[in-house]
Amino acid sequence: MWEQILAGISHLHLGWRDLIDIIIVTYIFYRLILIIKGTRAEQLVKGLIILLIAWAASGILGLKTINWLLQGLMTVGLIAIPIIFQPELRKALEQLGRGTLFQRPLYEFEDNDSLGMLDELFKAIPVLVKKRIGALIVLERETGLKDIMETGIKIEGIVTAELVINIFMPRSPLHDGAVIIQENILAAAGCFLPLTENPNLSKELGARHRAAIGITEISDALTIIISEETGVISLAHNGKLTRYLDEKTLRSTLLNFYFKKTKRKSFSSYLPWRFGEPHEDEV
Ligand code: ATP
Ligand code: MG
Repeated sequence: MWEQILAGISHLHLGWRDLIDIIIVTYIFYRLILIIKGTRAEQLVKGLIILLIAWAASGILGLKTINWLLQGLMTVGLIAIPIIFQPELRKALEQLGRGTLFQRPLYEFEDNDSLGMLDELFKAIPVLVKKRIGALIVLERETGLKDIMETGIKIEGIVTAELVINIFMPRSPLHDGAVIIQENILAAAGCFLPLTENPNLSKELGARHRAAIGITEISDALTIIISEETGVISLAHNGKLTRYLDEKTLRSTLLNFYFKKTKRKSFSSYLPWRFGEPHEDEV
């Protein structure tokens, strides 16, 4: 049987260029499926496939009017695709730009500044939890969040526990919205984050948690959330939320992410898709 297959392939006169072509196209489709999987676009793609099958079937069966109608629908569909898939296309392009080619210089997350920032955060978190002060803290990584920062108030101060607690104090003018941290600098507060449109989230999750997830869908940022209602600590990354974290787990998860950054200078940085995040999130 293998011989037959090989004979068939050689009959096609496939050169090495065709092989590369096929591999690249396969890879692009694989990435597209990964991006689309679990999003609203998944259903849309299934719908389109059904439409395509119906169109082909009507052609084979000679059902001319149906075939003509479906053909028209598909022409409209082609124009509608970029509009319907706008968020997914945006996400795909952003992921592409986040690749190694245009990567901003990797900052040493193991250095004292960033570890100091984490220490300050971990001094603030128990206080926020104990006092039931809601908080939303975005840790910027490779995707720049300038546009998000512009929705808030510029602070540009070194992260200290006091500053973080002060910002989220219920009657503080800056408590509403998110804080954005770049390395060890608290860049802005009171920022408005895009809400996730994920329909599968628990109804318990309000605007704060949805905003935290939303920003991680369009960037590689990490978001720490402290619930005002329950004091529960959560972490969002890559559009997924991990809830009910204790401080120890949060600390080790964050360190894990930070440590990974310095490791990525190695060979794996050229194959970012092969080395997933070190931590599987769960909703
Ligand atoms: P909690 O458990 O703390 O109550 P929640 O997920 O139930 O959180 P809400 O009670 O709706 O969320 O939280 C409201 C607060 O979340 C607002 O006061 C505001 O500070 C913040 N918030 C809501 N939407 C956004 C947004 N899009 N961007 C940034 N912050 C937001
Ligand atoms: Mg609430």
